[in-house]
Amino acid sequence: MPDVAELYQSLILDHNRSPRNFRVMADADRSVEGRNPLCGDELTVWLRMDGDTIADVSWMGKGCAISKASASMMTAAVKGVARDDAEALFENFHDLVTGKLGDDKVNSLGRLAAFRGVSRFPIRVKCASLAWHALHSALLAPGTSSAG
Ligand code: ZN
Repeated sequence: MPDVAELYQSLILDHNRSPRNFRVMADADRSVEGRNPLCGDELTVWLRMDGDTIADVSWMGKGCAISKASASMMTAAVKGVARDDAEALFENFHDLVTGKLGDDKVNSLGRLAAFRGVSRFPIRVKCASLAWHALHSALLAPGTSSAG
């Protein structure tokens, strides 16, 4: 039986090595840049909305393994999802990495629960949440802006 912590860790390594949705989106209707000067993480998140649904989402950037894996898994988690559900996911993810999410809710995050260990490393919280903050800003305001 593989150890759960090991599985989650390999999930993060896999997304760092082969990031999903890693491309510029030419027909995006909004984009947000995120920066984490503490670590040197920099990324851009692109969104295309269809009404209140995230029709497409992509990202590009550079940084540490945690920030890249988190951006990759964020895009995989919110593509095709309604705005309100994506915002709820953002809140739960933020609570997860800051150690505030109840055990009963951790399982509802599915693969994103891989980032649970981040709560033991406060300096990594910004790395893990950078892409999510960019997503949040993009959902609030159409156009191009920056966050973080
Ligand atoms: Zn980082």
